[in-house]
Amino acid sequence: MSELTWVEISRTALSSNIARLRSLLAQSTLLCACVKANAYGHGLCEAGRIFFDAGADWLSVHSMHEARCLRKSGLACPIYILGPISPDDYPEALQLDCRLVVYNEDDLPPLAAAARACGRQARLHVKVETGTNRQGVGAGLFESLCAAVTGSPDLMLEGLATHFANIEDTTDHSFAQAQLRSFNEAIAILAARGIRVPIVHCANSAATILMPAAHFSMVRTGIAAYGMWPSNETYVSFVRERINGFTLTPALTWKARVAQVKDVPPGEFIGYGCTFKTGHPTRLAVIPVGYYDGYDRGIAGGHVLIRGQRAPIRGRICMNLLMAEVTDIRDACVGDEAVLVGRDADECITAEQIARWASTINYEVTTRINDRIPRIIVD
Ligand SMILES: *Cc1c(COP(=O)(O)O)cnc(C)c1O
Repeated sequence: MSELTWVEISRTALSSNIARLRSLLAQSTLLCACVKANAYGHGLCEAGRIFFDAGADWLSVHSMHEARCLRKSGLACPIYILGPISPDDYPEALQLDCRLVVYNEDDLPPLAAAARACGRQARLHVKVETGTNRQGVGAGLFESLCAAVTGSPDLMLEGLATHFANIEDTTDHSFAQAQLRSFNEAIAILAARGIRVPIVHCANSAATILMPAAHFSMVRTGIAAYGMWPSNETYVSFVRERINGFTLTPALTWKARVAQVKDVPPGEFIGYGCTFKTGHPTRLAVIPVGYYDGYDRGIAGGHVLIRGQRAPIRGRICMNLLMAEVTDIRDACVGDEAVLVGRDADECITAEQIARWASTINYEVTTRINDRIPRIIVD
């Protein structure tokens, strides 16, 4: 293989995560795997195919572009577009049989017109505002939006959705409980008007794992399907609340090939800004990964793995390169594999560890791995 940096994705890990999440759900509950953001960096179509083969019922994406890629790759499963799309794309979205989120009543006439032109109903999911204050229709406008959808022969109210604001960041789930109450009130308002919505959904990974009352007819799991916990708080809550065999397996390993190994005498600087000065005779490995590839320039005190040992990063992360110290890794040589994320023998670098180095979250670490880097499916 000519690639000098690549990402390996474990099919077994992705498949078993879907099976484990499925085991938390009632038989009739649908599992919608979120593959937005290049499947959290795992490869949109590759991960989408594996999830579908492993028993995910639906896939969700953020954009029209992602939905188009999935259809082009031959995936025929239901696709839910979570994000806004341009009215120019309504006809294509309907042709590709995508489900769309709605929260603006003004979007309905062009949607109905596109549906009429395509000769098929637009299947819409009304997003209810329950406290996240992102996408969603608030209490005053919710009823009229739902009435407008059910009143049009070209539109179908297929789903009712909301999204939690504060379930990952805390072990106190009172805000999530309040959102769930508001969501249940919205369901009751529709029921009182004789409107039954076929697919009700609000649970992200954290709610799927921690709040069975939030499962309704479908869950939308992202991060957990990739084998990562939504946060440490989610993990702590889980361990506190129930003890069974539920685990998740990370699926992603990011590797690169060492481009140069060199000896540097004491008292030399390494990299831009001369931020690091060698204090002893130092052997360095130059690795062709930098912030363009999605390895955060802010990382301080990080390391990579070479020959199963930790090689501390020295100096600043460059645009396309980084330098790591291999003084204590005697046999390190050009062409060796360096592991940036993942396991190498007894050592492992998790996305969570990189997130701590870079002051961010695991979600950002994997989603930022440049799309251009090949994703290779391994067993
Ligand atoms: C991304 C997303 C999810 C998945 O969240 P995870 O925490 O990764 O499980 C669910 N719902 C919506 C609306 C999203 O945007």
